Amino acid sequence: MSAPPQPMALPFSWADQERHLVGHLSALIRLDTSNPPGREIAVARYVSRELSRSGIAHSVLESEPGRANLVARLPGSGREPPLMPLGHADVVGARPEAWSRPPFSGEVAEGRVWGRGALDMKGQIAASLLIVQLLAGHRIPLRRDVPLVVTADEEAGSRLGAYWLWENHRRLVEAEFAFNEGGGQRFVTPGGPVYTVQVAEKGSARMRVTARGPGGHASVPRSEASVFTLAEALLRLRAYAPGTVVHPTARRMLRTLADLHPGAATEAIERLLEADWARANSLPIDPVLRDFVVAGLHNTAVPTMLSAGQRQNVVPVEASAVLDGRLLPGELPDRWAQEVQRAVGDQVEVSLLHGRVSHRVHDEPEILRVLGATVAAHEPGARVLPYINPAATDARAFPDTKVIGFFPSASGADIMRLIHAPDEHTRISDLMFGGQCLLDAVLRLST
Ligand SMILES: [Zn+2]
Repeated sequence: MSAPPQPMALPFSWADQERHLVGHLSALIRLDTSNPPGREIAVARYVSRELSRSGIAHSVLESEPGRANLVARLPGSGREPPLMPLGHADVVGARPEAWSRPPFSGEVAEGRVWGRGALDMKGQIAASLLIVQLLAGHRIPLRRDVPLVVTADEEAGSRLGAYWLWENHRRLVEAEFAFNEGGGQRFVTPGGPVYTVQVAEKGSARMRVTARGPGGHASVPRSEASVFTLAEALLRLRAYAPGTVVHPTARRMLRTLADLHPGAATEAIERLLEADWARANSLPIDPVLRDFVVAGLHNTAVPTMLSAGQRQNVVPVEASAVLDGRLLPGELPDRWAQEVQRAVGDQVEVSLLHGRVSHRVHDEPEILRVLGATVAAHEPGARVLPYINPAATDARAFPDTKVIGFFPSASGADIMRLIHAPDEHTRISDLMFGGQCLLDAVLRLST
């Protein structure tokens, strides 16, 4: 057996960085960047001041007034292409009455930092900022540039942030790798702890299902009314099991899970590998992990909005539902819309409103080996679990970059469920652990 991986040597004490890391996060939370309206310039200015203090070159780039992105560059020898720590500065809104502390207080209490963005994702921005400050301050030689990129507008589709940077300042944001949100959740399995690593994320296909039928006075019942037809179509969708072949990345994830779950779970996973995923919902593993796994196995179409009728006593001639569809890498939006049409039947019409294919998958063994060594160095026996994120991040805007979701947190689902929810906060121990792992991974790839 080879020796267990060791943490990368540092010319400073990581424990001493706690007050800086907590200070950055607390300050960033106090800058309300709820999107809309965003106002990410406040975060860009904070990061800019900190970078100036460390003598790091950077620019603040506004896509619209107040909607600022920041790109900093820590120069390396250029022997290898850049590694980009990436984070979005905007947050989703917060209704203060639902919170037990003000959502933008950045309060430090009970060993935690409280406020909107603590998890999604000002904690990772705070860590990325501190990391470039430490690399610069200790003059650590790098074999690649490390451009820190802080974006606007991720929560509303990335148009004024990551997409805008890619379209208008491509040279500044070209990189081989990026470390972004979307990974690092810890699960305990019989075979030891695992940390998720996002290596791909799904594309999207928004659709509308429309049913039509006779209108008229609501005093006369009609079984062919549009609302009934729509309801039947949606029930057919609920029962539908798409016949997707298991994607190679999902296959690798399932193999790792089988290793970690000897016994009944292994057999259930073997069946999944044969694309018999109809029983995936009863897979005997951690239920939160199971939801992730199942969502990464097939395309989805989830009804999110309904519309029908103008008056209480009139049968509407038309009823429709919006479906939020998510696509595995390699799947095409219009093909999925056609499959959904077949699933719901020809009594209704499915139209594609908006589609976006998923980018390439980046689960090369080398990057997974580096990240696996990183987590094992900081938690003996821990492994990484590459997965396809069912949701989207800024990764969607960088087609040529291996955008990896990686910010390990020792807390599990109990903390992660606070993302976009009231009382969002992070444990300081998680923040320190995530920052330490991120720094370690940057050093492994860049020194
Ligand atoms: Zn986020």
